[in-house]
Amino acid sequence: MSSKRCNGRQTRMIRRSRKLVDVPACLADSASLAEKERRKALRHHTRTPPPKKAYPFSVYREGEVHSALDRLFATKCAYCEFKRAGAPFDIEHYRPKGEVVEPCGTRRPGYWWLASTWTNLLPACQDCNRRRYQETEAGPYLFGKENKFPLRPGTSRAIHPGGEAQEQPLLLDPSVDDPTEHICFHVGKDKQGQDVSLVSAVVKADGVKDERGQATIDTIGLDRPSLVQQRMTSITHLRLALRSVEKEWERYLSADIPERREAIKATIRKEMQGVAAAFLVWDAEYSAACRAEYKAWIAAIRARASEERKSGEQKVA
Ligand SMILES: [Zn+2]
Repeated sequence: MSSKRCNGRQTRMIRRSRKLVDVPACLADSASLAEKERRKALRHHTRTPPPKKAYPFSVYREGEVHSALDRLFATKCAYCEFKRAGAPFDIEHYRPKGEVVEPCGTRRPGYWWLASTWTNLLPACQDCNRRRYQETEAGPYLFGKENKFPLRPGTSRAIHPGGEAQEQPLLLDPSVDDPTEHICFHVGKDKQGQDVSLVSAVVKADGVKDERGQATIDTIGLDRPSLVQQRMTSITHLRLALRSVEKEWERYLSADIPERREAIKATIRKEMQGVAAAFLVWDAEYSAACRAEYKAWIAAIRARASEERKSGEQKVA
């Protein structure tokens, strides 16, 4: 696939602050089910000799946790923005609870103490959350996060409760980080010359790709072929809607009766409101990629208007 450098705040995954919803009661305080479970898990994980199996956590799967995450992310995957229509998403642990697989393949104990911690839970589709082979132009490739949680090279990983506060994660947390600063979307071509919605790490002023953006794309598989095509389907629908607006605008320019022009202007306003509601609002599917396309459209319209103005001025001169 062709690629293009991103160097600015074109768009983003979406950031959704956890302040927007209440913490589910089962996770909320020292009397909660989660806290009781955590105390049992502490006894389990501090046994001598150490246990061979991780503690079987279950409170994080309570219905009220699913509901709260659905409200926070509008039934979208927190990483890729796929909007589910049916069964609930996996509840993904930002820091894996059972074990962590290092980039070199080494397996380490997970962050068991965060298994039912609200700030460690995200809704994720199966393609983002689970390791699965997908066809690529270079053959089958294993995508999906599963137990990966990369840290900045040379920094240390927490092995005890509370140690995570000192970590330097590379994976973006959509409930904390502003993805605008790290990743961006643009339309490119695949090998067959078809338009696809690509994602890249933001290129910083020094010409270096943003480390966290690239790690997030690689860890989640935000560039997997099925996803670039799904995003492109939304963008194709957006393009059709914007083409309709352009046609109305052309009708507006050629209309010579004031009442007619006003009526067309009202139509344009209504169509633009429809575009925003269907593609650009935070809860629209693949809204980050659609916002990037919308900004590119606005830039093209302005460039065209500028060219037409210059051409008109030259004719007058
Ligand atoms: Zn996803």
